Amino acid sequence: MSAPPSSERAPRRAEGAGVNPRLLQAGFLLLLALIPLFGSEFQVTLANYIGLYAMVALGLVLLTGVGGLTSFGQAAFVGLGAYTTAVLTTMTDLPPWLAWLGASPWLSFVAGLGLTLAFAMVLGMLTLRLSGHYLPLSTIAWGISIYFLFGNMEFLGGFTGLRGIPPIEVFGIELDTSRKIFFLIYVFLLAGVVTIQNLLDSREGRAIRALKGGMVMAESMGVNTAVSRLVIFLVAALLACASGWLYAHMQRFLNPTPFSLHQGIEYLFMAVVGGAGYVWGALVGATVIAMSKQWLQDVLVRIIGQAGNFEVIVFGIVMVIVLQRARDGLWPVLARWVPVRRRPRRIDPGVPPLARRPLPAAGETLLEVRGATKRFGGLVAVNDMSLEVRAGEIVALIGPNGAGKSTMFNLISGVLDATAGEVRFRGQSVAGLPSREIARLGMSRTFQHVKLLPAMSVLDNVAIGAHRREYPGLAKGVITGAWRLDRREEARVLAEAARQIERVGLADHMFDAAGALPLGKQRILEIARALCADPSLLLLDEPAAGLRYLEKRALAELLRKLKAEGMSILLVEHDMDFVMGLVDRVYVMDFGQKIAEGLPEQVQRDPKVLEAYLGGVE
Ligand code: ADP
Ligand code: MG
Repeated sequence: MSAPPSSERAPRRAEGAGVNPRLLQAGFLLLLALIPLFGSEFQVTLANYIGLYAMVALGLVLLTGVGGLTSFGQAAFVGLGAYTTAVLTTMTDLPPWLAWLGASPWLSFVAGLGLTLAFAMVLGMLTLRLSGHYLPLSTIAWGISIYFLFGNMEFLGGFTGLRGIPPIEVFGIELDTSRKIFFLIYVFLLAGVVTIQNLLDSREGRAIRALKGGMVMAESMGVNTAVSRLVIFLVAALLACASGWLYAHMQRFLNPTPFSLHQGIEYLFMAVVGGAGYVWGALVGATVIAMSKQWLQDVLVRIIGQAGNFEVIVFGIVMVIVLQRARDGLWPVLARWVPVRRRPRRIDPGVPPLARRPLPAAGETLLEVRGATKRFGGLVAVNDMSLEVRAGEIVALIGPNGAGKSTMFNLISGVLDATAGEVRFRGQSVAGLPSREIARLGMSRTFQHVKLLPAMSVLDNVAIGAHRREYPGLAKGVITGAWRLDRREEARVLAEAARQIERVGLADHMFDAAGALPLGKQRILEIARALCADPSLLLLDEPAAGLRYLEKRALAELLRKLKAEGMSILLVEHDMDFVMGLVDRVYVMDFGQKIAEGLPEQVQRDPKVLEAYLGGVE
């Protein structure tokens, strides 16, 4: 399976077909510019609202669609941005240390961003560790509390509100009409879209996208998932805050109604209906929901003859239908109608490669496990296990299903903490280290049940493995990513990913969606991803499970090649035939215990092993 040099390879989709994306962008901007020039007052106001909604929905695309964290509480952050600026710019009796922030809406905007950041940080640290449905429930809880806080605080004007908010001034022009503020709203929105798009296309963006592949996978690739979750929570909150700031200065009047939980739910609807996984979905969702609500109101009043919020009912039904018919939202449906010419990702093999870890000296003891024990309640899944892997070896850990092999792997890679015993990697005890730290020490793994991001390309999936190589730090990574100042490092990361893909023989699939590969190749992809972390030791959990004969042979071939290149491998298998003739040494487990160890031929003839395999669960 030799592949042509990467720069010559193009994705399979016909290059050059479809509409030039630049043309579409220009057309879209032109259309936007026509609204304030020729639209009626009503249309411009509606477009302004859509822009403001879309900004919040954009945060939800990042938070919910990409990161998988559901929030019903974004309206509260909109309120925070709106009330901060309203209070600072209208109150005359503020203490002097605060009053200066009210001198200009731009100053109060900065104050609002700061307050939102602090607030979201605390809220995020308290709630983001919650899993499953507890997180959405907690967003409902704070969404409600903050809303009532706005209503019940005397100095915020209570439920009657605050008035007299000044317009925003830009270059000496007061944005005091809906036509004028239109431009600022859409500049903000487009800047937001571009920023989020860039961020997702960077190292930290890959870490964020990896969240959906499960925390265990992301952490094993060196990603600090708690931090990645916090980052998207903060970005989403800041976008909501900006929307609130613009809203306050557009309306020039504020009461708590637009910041209720009801509105928070609607924001989520917008993101989901538009397409929660796509940045442009936010604008589509906001447009569709705002316009159809308006339209429904008009139509229903005419049909029923009285106003009575009937649109809410029809709206609910339509929503259910949309969610059933277009699960991924409307954006992908639209995108199918207008085929856009894709520019293939160019991989530049000429960039300087990422620094590599020195290979361990041949024969060095890489991994040493002594008396490892893991209890799950009454069940002892791993009982007093000891094993060793030396540099340059392929070692197999075999045993029937349920023997405790995967648990053993999880103890070694830090996914689980041992109840007793010791795991040392390159002489250092890894007890208590999170798996991302162990990964950084040079241990990299694959999973028995493949964990990858099916919609992402093979290249991007593999690049996740390089997350911590020449890591610039979180803040720098986010900022340079968002503003595309990271292109050089990014090119090096992608070149490294491409190199690993070629190394395992998947070069023909570089730009395919990972989910489209057959299982055998998905397993190989996981090996490439693990290799991309530049490990000293590779841990493979049942790499041959579910593979057909030829795929197994190709896998064995690959493992031999990696060994010849100096890689050390510990692999778990229950298929004894696969490991014979491939590995240097074998450990056999049954019921959590080691029942044999030695050369493959010896172990194969061991009566205890034969009994475990023939008389056991298999
Ligand atoms: P293997 O990988 O060898 O098939 P495992 O390590 O997955 O075996 O499982 C060993 C035993 O531990 C099984 O009986 C399994 O049911 C149990 N086990 C594994 N993980 C857990 C867990 N998180 N909680 C409770 N029991 C577990
Ligand atoms: Mg297993």
